[in-house]
Amino acid sequence: MSLRDNLERVQQRIVDACARAHRDPQDVRLLAVTKIFPAEVIREAYAVGLREFGENYVQEMENKAATVADLEGSRFHLIGHLQSNKTKKAAQLFAAIDSVDSVKLARRLDGEGVPLDITIEVKLSHEESKSGTAADAVAEIVEAVRASTNLKLKGLMTVPPWSEDVELSRPYFVTLRELAATHSIPELSMGMSHDLEVAIEEGATWVRVGTALFGRRKKQ
Ligand SMILES: *Cc1c(COP(=O)(O)O)cnc(C)c1O
Repeated sequence: MSLRDNLERVQQRIVDACARAHRDPQDVRLLAVTKIFPAEVIREAYAVGLREFGENYVQEMENKAATVADLEGSRFHLIGHLQSNKTKKAAQLFAAIDSVDSVKLARRLDGEGVPLDITIEVKLSHEESKSGTAADAVAEIVEAVRASTNLKLKGLMTVPPWSEDVELSRPYFVTLRELAATHSIPELSMGMSHDLEVAIEEGATWVRVGTALFGRRKKQ
């Protein structure tokens, strides 16, 4: 399968899910997750029309940056956990930080002095391995971002526990949607290759897709 074919399939899945949910497909944006893949893959994705990319690691983005610097209109989102000692690099490399999970991190990012789109990552499960803030700490992070000079609050993101049964993701997506509504936050980044339909049915405005576009990642 070529990237072009994969993209068509993913776009069709989005269109079909939107039809079921009576939503406009224009309201669901595709974040192409290129982590672990070489920078050339980002260029290929750009060539077939993709513009918004998700990367998980600051260091990896730094290594790729020179190769993708000329891709006009491309935007990079950090979707992996950010340590607060790496905010300077992150602010240089990314247009959007989708994994903000503390007031401290938000303040540090604001202090870097460049405009950044911010999404708060919420951990709604009890898995040790997952990052994200607890739901009851979202309010104070929202407040910090809204009070900042350089940060623009865009959305909430969550990653449910992985399961073969995509229906098990649904309650997490519902909870995220309700949390966003409580704080009048417009964007919902939820749904990945295997469960994007369920996420769209529950209101996702961004789906983050790696495997369904680029194939399986080699273990790092
Ligand atoms: C890797 C990753 C994705 C993409 O997952 P796929 O299953 O490959 O589509 C989405 N979101 C986050 C936070 C990720 O780390």
